[in-house]
Amino acid sequence: MRLMQDVLCGEIEVEGTRGLARQCRGTGKQRSGPAKRLSEGKECERNMADSGSRERTMLLIKPDGVQRGLVGKIITRFEEKGYLLVAMKLTQASEDLYREHYTELKDEPFYARLVKYLSGRPVVPMVWEGYNVVKMTRLMLGQTDPTASEPGTIRADYCIEAARNACHGSDNLECAKREINLWFKPEELISYTSCTHQWIYDEH
Ligand code: UDP
Ligand code: MG
Repeated sequence: MRLMQDVLCGEIEVEGTRGLARQCRGTGKQRSGPAKRLSEGKECERNMADSGSRERTMLLIKPDGVQRGLVGKIITRFEEKGYLLVAMKLTQASEDLYREHYTELKDEPFYARLVKYLSGRPVVPMVWEGYNVVKMTRLMLGQTDPTASEPGTIRADYCIEAARNACHGSDNLECAKREINLWFKPEELISYTSCTHQWIYDEH
């Protein structure tokens, strides 16, 4: 959370911040909108130097994803993107855990059915790490409704119905933190640096 706030220089939205911050390093070119605002922040250069490449999100391959043999394919998408897997397990979670996980949806008409569907069935919760990982993994998943999702996204490519959309991804940084704590003990999260890091990030 703090890292992203640093990266965002306080007020800019998440989308495209890495590219925009590069503008801040003084390419001379100014983009319209957020880039102009970001370029005004003197702190940007320093903040980008320790950019949010350690941001984490929680993804969960749902029962339909597991049963349909999509675990490997889904993991491969995030691996090939360059994100780092820092926690993963095959588990079956209780109704209580799903009630907590989806607590923000408790008043939705589909909530009870959703919790019942997920409970006690094999799923694969995971934590992935990388720059802008919360936002980007959501984009890679696609829309909640697979029929509204862009081709090339996981939900568009593998799914048909919202209730069987294969994989969950945290909505935002705050949710990510809460969900990671809900699904994993601190010792289950592995902190390490991939030997590919320097080939993915232009950090000094
Ligand atoms: N869902 C559903 N029916 C709906 C909307 C959502 O079954 O009309 C399920 C769907 O599996 C979705 C989950 O509830 O992934 C959580 O809903 P949310 O709005 O958080 O969607 P997401 O963030 O997963 O895209
Ligand atoms: Mg959601």
